[in-house]
Amino acid sequence: MSNTEYDVIVVGSGMSGAYAAKEFCEKGYKTLVLERGEMVKHRQYKTEGKAPWQMPFRGDVPEEFKAEQHIQKEVYIYNDYTRHHLINDKDHPYEQKRPFIWYRSATVGGKSLIWGRQSYRWSKLDFESNKLDGNGIDWPVRYEDIEPWYDRVEPFVGISGSYEGLEVLPDGKFLPALPLNVVERDMKKKIEKTFPDRHFIPARVAHLTQPQKQHLELGRVQCQARSECPRGCSFGAYYSSNSAALPAAERTGNMTLVANAQVQEVLYDHASGRATGVAYVDMRSGERKQVSARTVFMCASTLASVQILLNSKSETFPEGIGNRFDVLGRYVMDHCGGGGASGMVPGYLEDYYKGRRPGGVYIPRFRNINSKHGKFERGYGFQCGASRAGWHWAKTGKGIGKAFKEKVSQPGNWYFTMWGFGESLPRYENRIYLHPSKKDKWGMPLLVTDVAYGENESAMVRDMSDTAVEMLEAAGLQNIRRFEGEAPPGGAIHEMGGACMGHSVETSYLNKWNQCHDVKNLFVTDGAAFSSVSCVNPSITFMAFTARAVDYADQQMQQGLI
Ligand SMILES: Cc1cc2nc3c(=O)[nH]c(=O)nc-3n(C[C@H](O)[C@H](O)[C@H](O)COP(=O)(O)OP(=O)(O)OC[C@H]3O[C@@H](n4cnc5c(N)ncnc54)[C@H](O)[C@@H]3O)c2cc1C
Ligand code: SF4
Repeated sequence: MSNTEYDVIVVGSGMSGAYAAKEFCEKGYKTLVLERGEMVKHRQYKTEGKAPWQMPFRGDVPEEFKAEQHIQKEVYIYNDYTRHHLINDKDHPYEQKRPFIWYRSATVGGKSLIWGRQSYRWSKLDFESNKLDGNGIDWPVRYEDIEPWYDRVEPFVGISGSYEGLEVLPDGKFLPALPLNVVERDMKKKIEKTFPDRHFIPARVAHLTQPQKQHLELGRVQCQARSECPRGCSFGAYYSSNSAALPAAERTGNMTLVANAQVQEVLYDHASGRATGVAYVDMRSGERKQVSARTVFMCASTLASVQILLNSKSETFPEGIGNRFDVLGRYVMDHCGGGGASGMVPGYLEDYYKGRRPGGVYIPRFRNINSKHGKFERGYGFQCGASRAGWHWAKTGKGIGKAFKEKVSQPGNWYFTMWGFGESLPRYENRIYLHPSKKDKWGMPLLVTDVAYGENESAMVRDMSDTAVEMLEAAGLQNIRRFEGEAPPGGAIHEMGGACMGHSVETSYLNKWNQCHDVKNLFVTDGAAFSSVSCVNPSITFMAFTARAVDYADQQMQQGLI
């Protein structure tokens, strides 16, 4: 057993953990990052830039590999170029009392390597909705509390976006937006004219359109529009932990990063009332180790952080550290989705675009803002885009010779697609807990998911499809296809909750500083801390809360309070 002293232990190196490490290291704290995944260093992305004919299966994945990743294989980025960035489901099982799709990363950098880069601020309404409609617990934080931390994180990440002045989707510190293409510009005019409450704006994505000094210093340069991002990008042109936060932490000389380290438990000392460190298993040797630190930051991702906390049992906390009132594992949420529509755009056959733009269009929430919808609470936004059908039909199409080659080289019709992402309600009964007897091969108790949507989400998803169809009709599209079928929780990969922030220890796990009510040197700053889910993609908000919590922990440590 080793016994090393650090100032801070950060569990997980994904979107939240790597940013916590950067902030602590830059403040001079000796920081240990423990990461379950394999080491992936920036610019050592093994499938980057490879053509299909350089891949053993031409980009497809044989069934035997899919069997080992029977959950991960469903995620839309899964293929032979990316599958090594996703976990092996056979080695990392969990139990679904009710269906929950748990997508997980297999590497240092976590899901930041494979994320979709859509980055939006939450609005005032998002932090007030729980109080206004009485679902879930009231956030102890409002937009004004987090605004300065968005201001801090966004320039480091590098987010391209347009300034729109919308209250429902606050503007941030942006790089120039990726432009709309010709079809999208025309659709914007038609949709905004027909529906004045709906705004059609360039997606805000974490891509460097105009790199700044702090990006260039880290070797990050302008996006080349190759759209092969989930393989990893040596240009560092999209934000990932690997390309940005981890190198920033590393250059301070204050970070120790240990990969293949499965953290199983936060250790607790009853006499001092403090977390003393963590216990982890070296996944290669199977050896169990303990490390100690003044402060512990949990950033292992929403469900995984809660799993570790539930497994951190002591005489004081037999149901998991800091969990005196059965709040840990409650209010687990994800965005609801599955609603939307697509259609063919007539014309524009002389219009082309160059490159593969890594962002499209966003239509911010327009339901339940100034008037009540009546059939459901909260709202949803659409991620959308217009593109021309390419040559992919030829993969299975028949043909040979000159005429066939010419046909393949011609782009097809334009299509426009809209996908809805909705705000599900926080529900006490939607929970995760540890299986009483089953463990994984490293001895970690399995997680059980018991989460489901209700009528509010079903009504919202139906409305997504209705409004998508009405907007496509208004824009004059043809062959409109309405999407049916609600995706199960986890499917949006925006899972949140389980260790929520709130006003009291009886109803919530964390206080307004992401600090455990009962254990003051224990913080949770990934999505587990969230008391509701908004309808926008959450990762930039995880980072903003992380930055704020690090600042607070720093002050507390300096004052000797933790
Ligand atoms: C395909 C895809 C598209 C997405 N698109 C978007 C998007 O457009 N916008 C957006 O905002 N979000 C998007 N997301 C979600 C986004 O990736 C997550 O919200 C974000 O990565 C969560 O950050 P995190 O730090 O909580 O977790 P992660 O990034 O998953 O990092 C957690 C880390 O902790 C490690 N870990 C887990 N358990 C342990 C343990 N026991 N011990 C040690 N380490 C552990 C994991 O291996 C991982 O590296 C997308 C996700 C996917 C998969
Ligand atoms: S689109 Fe931009 S960020 Fe993505 S792989 Fe290409 S250069 Fe990198």
